[in-house]
Amino acid sequence: MAFATETLFREDAYRATGEGKVVAVNERGGIILDRTIFYATSGGQPGDTGVLTRADGSKIAVEATITGENKDEIIHLPAPGALLPDIGETLGLSIDWPRRLKLMRMHTACHLLTVICPFPITGAAVGEEESRVDFDMPDADLTKEAASARLMELVTADHPVFTRWITDEELAANPGLVKSKNVRPPAGTGRIRLVCIGEGEAVDSQPCGGTHVARTGEVGEIHIGKIEKKGRENRRFRIRFGPAPA
Ligand SMILES: [Zn+2]
Repeated sequence: MAFATETLFREDAYRATGEGKVVAVNERGGIILDRTIFYATSGGQPGDTGVLTRADGSKIAVEATITGENKDEIIHLPAPGALLPDIGETLGLSIDWPRRLKLMRMHTACHLLTVICPFPITGAAVGEEESRVDFDMPDADLTKEAASARLMELVTADHPVFTRWITDEELAANPGLVKSKNVRPPAGTGRIRLVCIGEGEAVDSQPCGGTHVARTGEVGEIHIGKIEKKGRENRRFRIRFGPAPA
């Protein structure tokens, strides 16, 4: 049986603590709650790590967060040997916030990269120190120096980042919103979450279920560390934190 976990991080990505009630513990010891602030690995963004705290103060370390039988079911994977909670128990939730904030900054940086590099996306992976986005583009006439400068223009402009929901029909009427070459946003649920950048979405809008910072300025200093050729028509851009090495 699959459960549908209420995803508190979708409404407010800045919630670092919260509470949830245990609805199930699966055969592998995975803990399923009625609601959670833990993001589950999806869309190239790694799931959260953190701690669940029982009423008696004892703690259960969460090593990974993944989705279950369907994308609505979020499973918190405890460290091996952890004592498991009882069904119905209320747990305090706390994510590794410094790690999540880095992932939110990096994930937002990946969106900015798709603005300055408007080609179909063939893959992406968000990391704490480095992220990569692969594009279907024949030639990288964009140098890493030029790309870094354009990214930093978008960061320093401090554009707002916000979400809004559209219907399946609205998405079908605006196919240009989808930037992934092979991955289509889930259809049939009736609504799709758009992540928008800039006043009036002037900079970008695209379907995404991940967590992002609220303004592009929060991304901070980033640069393109490398542009690699991956096959005839694929280019891999690596985004790193900090200034470009001299
Ligand atoms: Zn996103």
